[in-house]
Amino acid sequence: MNELSSVPISGGCTNTPLLKERGQREVFCGLTGIIWLHRKMQDAFFLVIGSRTCAHLLQSAAGVMIFAEPRFGTAILEEKDLAGMADAHEELDREVERLLVRRPDIKQLFLVGSCPSEVIKLDLSRAAERLTQLYAPRVRVLNYSGSGIETTFTQGEDACLASMVPVLNDTEERQLILVGALPDVVEEQLIKMLTAFGIPNIKTLPAISKEKTPYIGKNTSFVLAQPFLGETAEALEGCGLKRILAPFPFGDQGTTEWLRAIANEFGVSNKVFEKVTSAPRIRARKAVEAAAVRLRGKSVFFFPDSQLEIPLARFLVNECGMRAIEIGAPYVHKSIVGPDLALIPEGPVLSEGQDVDLQLERCRKAKPDITVCGLGLANPLEGEGLTTKWAIELVFTPVHGYEQAGDLASLFARPLKRKEVLKL
Ligand code: SF4
Repeated sequence: MNELSSVPISGGCTNTPLLKERGQREVFCGLTGIIWLHRKMQDAFFLVIGSRTCAHLLQSAAGVMIFAEPRFGTAILEEKDLAGMADAHEELDREVERLLVRRPDIKQLFLVGSCPSEVIKLDLSRAAERLTQLYAPRVRVLNYSGSGIETTFTQGEDACLASMVPVLNDTEERQLILVGALPDVVEEQLIKMLTAFGIPNIKTLPAISKEKTPYIGKNTSFVLAQPFLGETAEALEGCGLKRILAPFPFGDQGTTEWLRAIANEFGVSNKVFEKVTSAPRIRARKAVEAAAVRLRGKSVFFFPDSQLEIPLARFLVNECGMRAIEIGAPYVHKSIVGPDLALIPEGPVLSEGQDVDLQLERCRKAKPDITVCGLGLANPLEGEGLTTKWAIELVFTPVHGYEQAGDLASLFARPLKRKEVLKL
């Protein structure tokens, strides 16, 4: 069998010094992840133990997307609940009982912690254990924190998936797990190609239901589909699973190298690899070429937001002909984004964390053609004449894989087009 060539993890921006900033930051909290996780895990319920602010965030973030009875809610801690922790635990138990009686479809319940100091004092892991014992085996109760103090918006998913790892059952079977919530259409496309490689037993984490949750063991290899899952990756590696290191599947290059790394791990021949990937690769290249006309030669500046920044910058630079001025990410885990960094030619500033005023100054001075940032920064920057792209849209839109590569380029081209139209 031919060994397929794979991406180096040296060169490019690998050794670019990191500008580390630890000041005020402008990002959503980890509760945001519930918006896409509740759609993915169809028998799960996310019960946020929080304040009215948390309830408002969830409602406004999810409001436009909910067509059925939601599978998340907020147990609001009122002042009176705070008189004693024992009362708070009893109140939580009552809330859970009411919920589970009303909703027999719930098989997994996540207690999600938030910011108020009273919530932080509540031992949610103890509550989850107590409630698991009470409702087992019908319902599995887990807990994680989505607090804005501890998490940025995509870290909520990481904390959620990491909380599941200790309860995954054992298997000796050789298998592959795709880790990270992907839109169904993308997941189906990727699994179809991996199946065509001849890889048996392809599972996903999160799975659609408790019943389909993957088993794990030392013969399990996993690959991250999202770059913000560092804690989950560490937990899985801690259980003896092998992580397949690869660039992330954005655009032709990222998708090909991601698939190639998996193919290498499972001994897929070069011939099979080419047969499965050549047609969709050509489609992806053509679609990107058409959509990237407006992007060629333009510059881009990334504020830290979702941790997708480095793989996306790689796509924009290598496939759309853009120039990255600064690539800011909330965290830079080289052990995860190393392969993407290695593929970005030297040049951009690489920053980790944020001191928003300093970064705004750098951005204004650089006058990028596109600034990728959170909602809070986008409006003022547009007001100053800069063209912005909302980072959150990149998390909510299907952008992974070959078939979405053109759409991904279009997402960045759209604000430039809007600007041109406004100028006319
Ligand atoms: Fe706000 Fe914290 Fe609640 Fe998030 S978890 S909505 S940051 S109070």
